[in-house]
Amino acid sequence: MQSVLIVEDSKMVLKVLRHVARKTLNYDVVFAATAAEAKAALAQDKDWLGAIVDLNLPDAPNGEMVDVVLEKGIPTIVLTGRVDDARRDELMRHGVVDYVLKEGLYSYQYAVNLINRLYRNRSIKVMVAEDSNVTRKFIVELLNRHQFQVAEAENGREALEAILADGDIDMLLTDYNMPEMDGFELIHTLRYKYEKTDISIIGLSSADDKYLSAKFIKNGANDFLYKPFSHEEFFCRIMQDVESMERMKKLHAMAYTDALTEIGNRRFFIEKSREQIRLAEQKQKPLSLAIMDIDYFKHINDQYGHDTGDMVLASFAQSLQQKFGRFILGRTGGEEFCVLFPGLPAERAAQLLDVLREQIENDFVDTPEGDIGYTFSAGVAQLPAIELEGLMNQADRLLYQAKEGGRNSVVYHS
Ligand code: GH3
Ligand code: MG
Ligand code: MG
Ligand code: MG
Repeated sequence: MQSVLIVEDSKMVLKVLRHVARKTLNYDVVFAATAAEAKAALAQDKDWLGAIVDLNLPDAPNGEMVDVVLEKGIPTIVLTGRVDDARRDELMRHGVVDYVLKEGLYSYQYAVNLINRLYRNRSIKVMVAEDSNVTRKFIVELLNRHQFQVAEAENGREALEAILADGDIDMLLTDYNMPEMDGFELIHTLRYKYEKTDISIIGLSSADDKYLSAKFIKNGANDFLYKPFSHEEFFCRIMQDVESMERMKKLHAMAYTDALTEIGNRRFFIEKSREQIRLAEQKQKPLSLAIMDIDYFKHINDQYGHDTGDMVLASFAQSLQQKFGRFILGRTGGEEFCVLFPGLPAERAAQLLDVLREQIENDFVDTPEGDIGYTFSAGVAQLPAIELEGLMNQADRLLYQAKEGGRNSVVYHS
């Protein structure tokens, strides 16, 4: 587990920090009230994620402890009772992540949240496209300080190639004026492929062209930043964009996930399936679709209650995920689930489903109401069909046959 060091001599502040840290941080948090204690803690062999350090300590009254922590390469957030502009600039130049004025609970919560932010930043990849070496190095250093993974490019073309090759870049900071490919062309090209939620783009514009910032937004950037910017301005803006991106991703994921079973919902299944059907038709590859429906599910609800019925649904979804996680699956209705099998004709998909059918028939769901057995029926259709709707109607008819034929069976198009 990673460790966080918190150094603070005021008993009252320390009490608040302890409280906030206990609520907010899932790390090994080490508290120290003096520089001596802090040094002893740092001497231990730990994986330090970051530190929150008071500027004035009885045995280190002038920020000496901040230097000690920074020298160890640990991201450092400074706590201080007062700050003037000169002192703040000096601290930021020195390499601290941020400084926080001791202004009550909110400010301590901010400092502690920043530790979590640093941790999450480690899994965020940022590309910096900027032809000026000085500006690029400056930005890269700031991003590294906040623990981002950073890639750099000297022009738009280089950035574009690296982003396409990597496929995993979350954020792009781009200059406008660059050789080979400028910032607008870069953004334009990227937006064919990536939505604003896939890659967040921040345009860097100089303050002397006051239309540039608006043009960035119109060309598909999420945000812009005027050059030159202060450390703080930079961090505030980046943090805001990263957090807004995370919120959007979360909402997006929620909109495509079934809350009960945590697998894809109907919307997810339909959108993914349309894509795959189009590809299969283009390449003339086989593709099949199965609709599965739990048999006499109403009896389970009636006999054991709705909550227990929910458990059976969740268990079935889990079995589907285990067996068919590599295909596209979703909960498309109450006790109805679908799997799309790109590359497989109906007969082959039905064989796979039959293995699951047998497994479920011989298994039980462990619930507070006891072990519950159930079965399901499935209909499996295949291309050609008129769109997804045609395929689903075909599968539905086959499912009906499976039900009519006595349930607990898989019927496929042959
Ligand atoms: P069949 O074998 O013909 O499919 O019979 P069945 O009882 O499974 O089918 P029917 O369509 O009559 O009933 C399905 C039931 O599923 C009715 C509905 O209340 C229940 N159901 C739908 N969504 C949920 C859910 O989210 N949770 C629970 N517990 N029950 C649900
Ligand atoms: Mg103090
Ligand atoms: Mg330039
Ligand atoms: Mg049913």
